[in-house]
Amino acid sequence: MVNKKTIISIILLCSLVFSVIGSFGFVYAVETPEFFPYVNNEKSIDENDTGEDDTLTGIEAIDDELPEDLDTETAEYDAIERFVSRMYLDVLERQYDAGGLNHWANELRSGRLTGANFAHSIFFSTEFINYKVSDEDFLNRMYKGLMDRTPDSGGKTHWLGRLHAGLPRENIFSGFVNSPEFTRLCERAGIVRGTYTPPQGGMARVFVTRLYRTTLQREPDASGLSSWTTNLVNGGSGAAVAHGFIFSTEMFNRNLSDADFVEILYEALMGRASDAGGKAGWVSRLQNGDTRHSVFAGFANSSEFDRICRDHGIQRGNIPPPVSPPIDLTPIKGKIIFLDPGHGTAGSPGAGGYNEAVAMLGLAGRIRPLLEAQGATVIVTRTTEVNVPISVRCAMINIRALEAVKETTTNQEVITEINRLLIVMSSIIANPGENGPIYMNLDPFNPARAIHPDLQSVFEITNNPVIRDKFLVISLHSNAVGTGGSSSTRGAEVYYISPNEIANTRQYYPDFSFTSQSRRFADILLDHIQIAGIPRRANGLRAANYAMIREINVPAVLTENGFHTNPTDRALLSDPAFMARLATEYMYAIARYFA
Ligand SMILES: [Zn+2]
Repeated sequence: MVNKKTIISIILLCSLVFSVIGSFGFVYAVETPEFFPYVNNEKSIDENDTGEDDTLTGIEAIDDELPEDLDTETAEYDAIERFVSRMYLDVLERQYDAGGLNHWANELRSGRLTGANFAHSIFFSTEFINYKVSDEDFLNRMYKGLMDRTPDSGGKTHWLGRLHAGLPRENIFSGFVNSPEFTRLCERAGIVRGTYTPPQGGMARVFVTRLYRTTLQREPDASGLSSWTTNLVNGGSGAAVAHGFIFSTEMFNRNLSDADFVEILYEALMGRASDAGGKAGWVSRLQNGDTRHSVFAGFANSSEFDRICRDHGIQRGNIPPPVSPPIDLTPIKGKIIFLDPGHGTAGSPGAGGYNEAVAMLGLAGRIRPLLEAQGATVIVTRTTEVNVPISVRCAMINIRALEAVKETTTNQEVITEINRLLIVMSSIIANPGENGPIYMNLDPFNPARAIHPDLQSVFEITNNPVIRDKFLVISLHSNAVGTGGSSSTRGAEVYYISPNEIANTRQYYPDFSFTSQSRRFADILLDHIQIAGIPRRANGLRAANYAMIREINVPAVLTENGFHTNPTDRALLSDPAFMARLATEYMYAIARYFA
C-alpha cells in the first residue's frame, strides 16, 4: 500500500539522505578502502528477491516474510508497520508483540526515532544479546534485517574477518545502517534513516587484539583487552602499549630467538609479515650487540607504525625506556646456589685501575642477599680477597651435591659410597696442593688425562633429579682481550660444559648430565646482562672447557660480564649503580631459570 502520507515522507527523506551521505566516511575513515566495497555497492535490495525495480512498489517483495495476518490484511498495516514486523522476524526471529509494533511504528512515523536507532534497539536489545548468536549468525541477521538479502560471500568473508580481528559488533552494525542498501529500505518504509556512530575505540580494540595474538600467542582475556583499549581511547600511547606487550614477562618467558623476536615486531607493530631484507638487517643489529629495546624503538619510531596508529585512531606517543619485566621471584625459594667470584688476589690484575677479582667479589656480595631474601641457600666460594684453588671450589660443590643426594636415599650401598666420596672430596679441601691434582684434572687442561674413578663415581651419584631441580653454580668473571686484541671488543659471554660440543670434554667424561639446563640458564642470563646494559656478544652463548664447570656434575655456567679491556664495559663494571642493577638481573635470570 502506498498512500499519500508515505510519498510525502519519501520526498522529505530525500533531502535527509543527502545530508547524511557526507557522514558515511567518518565512522570508518580509518579503513575506508576495504570497508566500502561491501556495503556501498549498488546492488538492488531486490537482487535476491523478486527482481522488481528499486521502487516503492518493491515493498511487496518482502510480503512473503510477513506473518499471516499482515500478509492477508495488508490494508490494516502500512509500510512502517511492515518494516517493524520484518525486523522482528529477521533479527529476533519471532513475531512482533502488539505493544512493541505500535510503539515502534508510532515513534518511527513521528520522526522521533530513526531507522538506524530502531535497528540498534533491536540488534543491541537484551533479548538479542541473550541469544548469544555466533559472529556468522550475527552477520546473516544483519544482511537480512538491514539489507533484506542473504550475504554475498565476499562481503561476509570480509566482515567475519573484521569481527575476528576484534572489531566490535557496533562498528559492523554502523557500516550496515549507514549503507545505501539500508537507506533504500528506510525510503520504502517512508522513515528517516538517520545514522549511527559506534562507541569510540573499536579500532583500538583491533590494535590490542593483534598485540595479544602476536606477542603472547593467545586470545585476549576480557579484562586485559578492556583495560588496554580504554587506555588507548583515553589518549594512551600506541608505542607504550606495544612496549608493554613486547617487554611483558609473558612474552619474555617465550625465550624467543632474535629472528623470532624481529618477526613478532613486524606482526605486532606493522600488522604484516617481515620482508626478507628488512628482517635480516634488524637481526644483524641484534647480533652485533644492539638491545631488543633499541630494535623495538626502531620499529616504533617508523613512519609505518605511525600510520598504523593513525589508522587505528590512536596516538603513537613516546617510547618508554627499557625495563626489566616484573619477574616472579618465588621459584628461587629453597634452591642451592653457588656464587664463585673468579680468581683471587693473584688471579686477574684487570686494567685501568679496575681489578676483576675485587669487582666479582663485590658482584657476588650484591647477588647473595637478594637470593637469600627470596629463601635460597647461597654459598660463595670465597668471601674475601684470598686465593681459593679451583680444586677446593669444585670439591665444595661436589660435597654439597653428594649430601643432597644422600638425603633422598635409604639405599645403604649408595650411602656408604657417598660417605666414602665425601671423605675423598674433603681431603682435597684439607690439602689441595697434594690431593687436588690427584682427583681433578686442573689447569692447564690435559686432554689425554682420564677422569679419576672416584670423581667419576661422584658424577654418577650426582646425576640425580634433586641436583637438576635445586642446584645452580655461577662462576663470575670479566673478560680481557689477548695480546694484540682490540680494546673496542666488548659484551657478555656465558659458557657451559658440553661433551657434544667440545671434543676433549667428551674424551674426559662423556656424560655430563646437565648440559641442556646449563645452556638454558646461560641463554637467560645473557638476556638479563644485556638488559642491565652490557650487550650480549654474537656467539656469546657457548660451550667451553673450563675446570670450574668441568670438575663438577651440576647445572653450572661461567660468565664473562663484559670486557674490562673495553673502556665502556670497564666504566660500567666500576659503577656501583650498574653493579647493583646487574645483581638484580642475576636474580631475575635465576628466578626465570627455576620457574
Ligand atoms: Zn676471569
